[in-house]
Amino acid sequence: MGACNPSLAATVDARVPVPSLDLPAATGLHSRVNDFSARSLHDFRFSELVEVLARDGVVLHHAKVLWRALHRDGVVDLSEPPFLPPLRRWVDASVGEGKRFFLEAPVVVDEIHSSDGLTRKFLLRMRDGQTIETVLMGYEGRHTVCVSTQAGCAMGCVFCATGQMGFVRHLRPGEIVAQVLHARRVLRAIDPTKRLRNMVLMGMGEPLHNYDSVLAALETISDVRGAGIGPSKIAISTVGVVPSILRLAEEQQPYRLAVSLHGSTEEERAALVPASKRWSLEMLINACRRYVELTGKRIFFEWTLIAGKNDSAETARRLVELLDGIDAHVNLIPLNPTGGFAGVESDSGLEFQRILIAGGFPCTFRQRRGIDVAAGCGMLKADKRVRVPLVQNE
Ligand code: SAH
Ligand code: SF4
Repeated sequence: MGACNPSLAATVDARVPVPSLDLPAATGLHSRVNDFSARSLHDFRFSELVEVLARDGVVLHHAKVLWRALHRDGVVDLSEPPFLPPLRRWVDASVGEGKRFFLEAPVVVDEIHSSDGLTRKFLLRMRDGQTIETVLMGYEGRHTVCVSTQAGCAMGCVFCATGQMGFVRHLRPGEIVAQVLHARRVLRAIDPTKRLRNMVLMGMGEPLHNYDSVLAALETISDVRGAGIGPSKIAISTVGVVPSILRLAEEQQPYRLAVSLHGSTEEERAALVPASKRWSLEMLINACRRYVELTGKRIFFEWTLIAGKNDSAETARRLVELLDGIDAHVNLIPLNPTGGFAGVESDSGLEFQRILIAGGFPCTFRQRRGIDVAAGCGMLKADKRVRVPLVQNE
């Protein structure tokens, strides 16, 4: 395991080593909020919420009612629902500023619509002032929410705006859940007949570097008593955190796995994805083989095409060899422009696709969404400056 940045080690799942990259210090923002010991009700899994209420003598039935209000109805104000007296008393005594629990209710700092009207990007401000981005994408007949799992990212992929921003902090489960609830509320307001059925973890951050919070959030989001997004409609996208890929397989987690590959040799990949110095391409492909073996599931490989870097016919042929024997689908992503990378979009995508298909792999182009509002893949970069906290210590 590489040397962990000491400021990160405390917050990172001990089983997931942090790559030995040059990581900036985490910001410790929680100390700026005076009730930092309070817990978010949205952080709890269903069983945990039941336990919290049971400890205060409130029975299971009321926990179910509260869960539905939070996760199915997506209420942002618990003074409204007509709860029965035991739950009403508990909520009034326990939830709110200065009390033991709070509701995760991010403030919408900004909302931008793409010119085609199909994509909406939200800049959401978390309780400690940190801003993150969430994107609601509309396709023919379906809607997908793209959520962030960290503020910033430690992995430093050279072509990615979030990578260029560096790591700020992990998101808590409630902060991940709240993004989905926000997107559901927006969709309901646009068209009450539409349901949010798809979710991708392709916003800011590396989901498998924040394993426990991400998996807790997904359990809540896929719960049929709540948002009820089916596990097979949820895609976890990773840069290749090998121990976490193996853990997903061992735990038989029901979600889809997407692996961002971008290179067919160690050298080609390392030039784009610094994390591959920690988890080599060879380790990654072995982990993918093991994943398929243990789960029987297909893996989606993401490939951002960059002219002259990873778009040659030779690279495509090497990729076919590399993936040999893996149940794989390759998703080609056109490079989206970001301020800190001079790479150019490839124009040999069709040839690349042809070689993969001839090699026996389904291969599609990712539909472009929201380029004009910087909401495309890798373009999410919330302002990492700390804004004025909602609750101040002074
Ligand atoms: N950290 C995870 C998920 C977030 S990034 C991961 O890397 O998979 C989501 C996807 O956007 C990844 O496939 C990533 O490689 C891709 N991406 C990042 N920057 C991009 C850019 N500028 N243009 C196109 N795709 C990009
Ligand atoms: Fe992080 Fe993914 Fe961006 Fe790489 S592509 S820097 S892993 S968010």
